[in-house]
This record gives sequence, structure tokens and C-alpha cells, in this order.
Amino acid sequence: LAEREINQRSVEETDRRHNIHPFTDLAVMETAERTVIESAKGNYVYSDDGRKFLDGLGGMWCVNIGHGRDEMADAIAEQIRRLDYYSPFDDLTSAPMAALAEALTARAPGSLNRVLFTTGGSTAADSAIRLIHHYFIRLGEPARQHIITRDKAYHGSTYLTASLSDRGYSTDWRPESGFIHHLSAPSLYRRPAGTTEAEFTDILAAEFEAKILELGPENVACFIAEPIQGSGGVIVPPANYHPRMLEICRKYGLLYVADEVVTAFGRLGHFFASEDYFGIVPDIITCAKGLTSGYIPAGAVIMSDEIYEVLSRPGAYFNTGFTYTGHAVACAAALKNIEIIERERICERVQEIGPYFEERLAPLSELPLVGDVRGRLFMMCIEYVADKERKELFADEVRIGKRIWRHCQKRGLLVRPLAHLNVLSPPLTLERGEIDFIADVLHDAILDTA
Ligand code: PLP
Repeated sequence: LAEREINQRSVEETDRRHNIHPFTDLAVMETAERTVIESAKGNYVYSDDGRKFLDGLGGMWCVNIGHGRDEMADAIAEQIRRLDYYSPFDDLTSAPMAALAEALTARAPGSLNRVLFTTGGSTAADSAIRLIHHYFIRLGEPARQHIITRDKAYHGSTYLTASLSDRGYSTDWRPESGFIHHLSAPSLYRRPAGTTEAEFTDILAAEFEAKILELGPENVACFIAEPIQGSGGVIVPPANYHPRMLEICRKYGLLYVADEVVTAFGRLGHFFASEDYFGIVPDIITCAKGLTSGYIPAGAVIMSDEIYEVLSRPGAYFNTGFTYTGHAVACAAALKNIEIIERERICERVQEIGPYFEERLAPLSELPLVGDVRGRLFMMCIEYVADKERKELFADEVRIGKRIWRHCQKRGLLVRPLAHLNVLSPPLTLERGEIDFIADVLHDAILDTA
């Protein structure tokens, strides 16, 4: 134990001295205790002081097949032994990179048959925008530069993708802000009082169309949207929202980018949610996270044949990509991950068990503090409010999600605290008993906090 304590102290001290944690209050981190995650297996993670936590978050919306799979370790190790890394530029390729591109396009909707691999979700969204601008220039429509996005969006943490995200994410310099326009989030919970779901869809569609007309359709390149907004609070749009937005894109010649970084690879019971869950075929899908279930970083931009045809016309040079585009080890991990998702029928499992997760969390809305419980299948969220009737947020909204999170952590459950929200995106291998545990712990944590 003494040795363990010394190790614990040294990890904490070293971390405190040198490490910058993402999306974290750095002043608080100067003195905050660390939870050192030492190992993980299945749906659980373990800290180095012997605590066991149920992973209600899937690492960070990504560990879809659960932690610590030997098969994944073997596939990764074998690939490193055979080929660790080589350049993907020009005519160089590798078998895992080619096979993964085929595996993704075989499962993607419509004519989405071409893939550009990236290093994660931010670089996928960033690359998608770059190649769209490139596409319109090649097409002879260079004025199409404006991008339409939404409040409560999250598309990443590069400068461009932070600017595409909710305006709260980039309070610093906004280099692209003149070209990026935010529409309302399609939040049913916070829709104008007295409107039906169908009327709300009309309002959102009219706002989109008005924005395009204001900018001039000939100046607008694309619309980018998560099928369900994740980090913004698991905002499930009205039923016909995505088809209506796509229809407007088609009317004015905009491309539709579906950011499926969270929603793909089973979280909503399908490989991709765009067509199978929401009934649309976008022009581009970006994905990451569940692509490798988080075992190795990777992302991808999957685009239509029609876009690719323009990009590949003679005279065009495609100057977008990364050293680690199509990294052989990441691709081998993704291929094994896809094999596991299919062999264990994980999408079907989510369709079968996901409704039970929704059902068990729903009654939390009766508790004090809880304004809304929402989400679909294995992508859920609880929103806390100071006044349930008026849906008013707490004056210090940042603390409420954290306070409940702390109670959960003490009881052995990890959820994600996001200001006045707790979000849940567990491994898709979650069992019914574990769903009961999550619902019970949240119930007690909320009552303890109220
Ligand atoms: N897009 C969406 C919808 C996301 O949820 C995220 C991350 O949470 C990203 C993009 C950014 O991905 P990454 O953190 O891998 O760069």
C-alpha cells in the first residue's frame, strides 16, 4: 500500500506540474486531486487506488465495444510487427488502409464511396470543410464559401471546427467567423412555448432558408449537422427535421455534411445513423471515435462519388491530408472493431436493449433539479434546472452537473458533467443490470444533491 501511495502521489504531482488537461479549468487543476485510471476491462475502469467504476461515458463517447479486448490488442500488435507505419502519400498504400476504406463505403449510404482518413473527429470536420471549398472552386463556383451550422453544435477543437461549434466554444479570436453562421439548435425542450413539433420544424426550416437567402445561395457552400447533437446536450431534433434541412440544401445547391463522430458505429443501433435512423443520405459523413472504439485515434471523411468526381478532375491537386492519414495500425484496429460489432450483433443489441436504457432513465425527470431526460438508445442526457416550470438554469450552471457527477463517482459510476448536464454514452455492451445500476446511482446522486 505504501508503495501504491507513493506512486499515486508521484503521478498526481508529475501530472500537476506538467500536464495540461483538455476542456478543464486549469486554475482548479493547480490543486485538484487526480483520479488515475490504471486499467479497464469490459464496461468497467479501475483507478490505481483500487476503485472500480462503471463506465457510463464509453471513455469519451467512443469505447463502443467495451474496454480491454485481447482481440484488439492482438490485431494492433500483429499490425505493428508486420508494418508499423509508412507514408500514405501519392501512390503508396497499405492493405489495412484499402480494406478499411472498402469496409466503410460498403456500410455508408448512397454513393458515399470515397474516404479520406484523418486523425480524429476534429480533423475530419476540418478536412470536410476544406475539401468542400476545394470542390466549389473546381466546380467554378468559388463564391460558395459560407458555412451554416447551429447553436449547441460540437464539431471539434481545431480553430475552424471550434468556430463551427456552439459560439460558446470559441470566445477567443474567430478567424472564420465572417463565413460561419449559426442557426437555432433544434431543441424540443426549449422550443418556443405552445408550438407543436411540426410547427417547430417549420420555424427551423424557415430560419435556414431565410439565412441562405440573406447570404445569397450562390455564396453558401454547406450545412453541417450532427444527427443528434452530442456535447451540446444530446439534442434529438424533431422527427422530420433532417429531411427538411436536406431538402433545402438540395433546393439551393448546398452540400450536407453529417457529423457522425458520435452517432456512427452502433450508438443509435446502426453503422451510420443518417439513413438508417434519420432517413437522409448526406453528401459527406464524418466519423471517428467508435470507428476504432477509441483503442487508437482515427477519423474519416466519407464523400459521395459526385464530389470525388470533381476533386479528381485533371489539373486539380488535392492538398489536404495528414502524416497519419490511413495509419496502418489505426486501420487494423478499425477493421477488427467492425468485425467485432458485426460478429456480436452489437447494432441489433443496441436496438433491443437501448429502449430499456431510455425507459429506466425517464422517471428521473420526476426528481427535483431535473428539467429534462432525453436522448435515444445509448446516447442520453439529463438537464438540470433551477426552476422546472420556467426551465431556468442555475445562476452557477457550471457547478450543478459536477456536483451530481461527484456523487456518482463516489458510488462507482462515471458520467460526463457538462455545465448543467450529465451525459451518458456507455459502451454498447452494457447489460440490463448495469442499466439498473446507472439509473439507481443517478437517482440517489440527484436526491443527495437537491
Ligand atoms: N464531432 C463531434 C460530433 C464530436 O462529438 C467530437 C468530439 O466529441 C468531434 C467532432 C471532435 O472529435 P475529436 O475530439 O476526435 O477531434
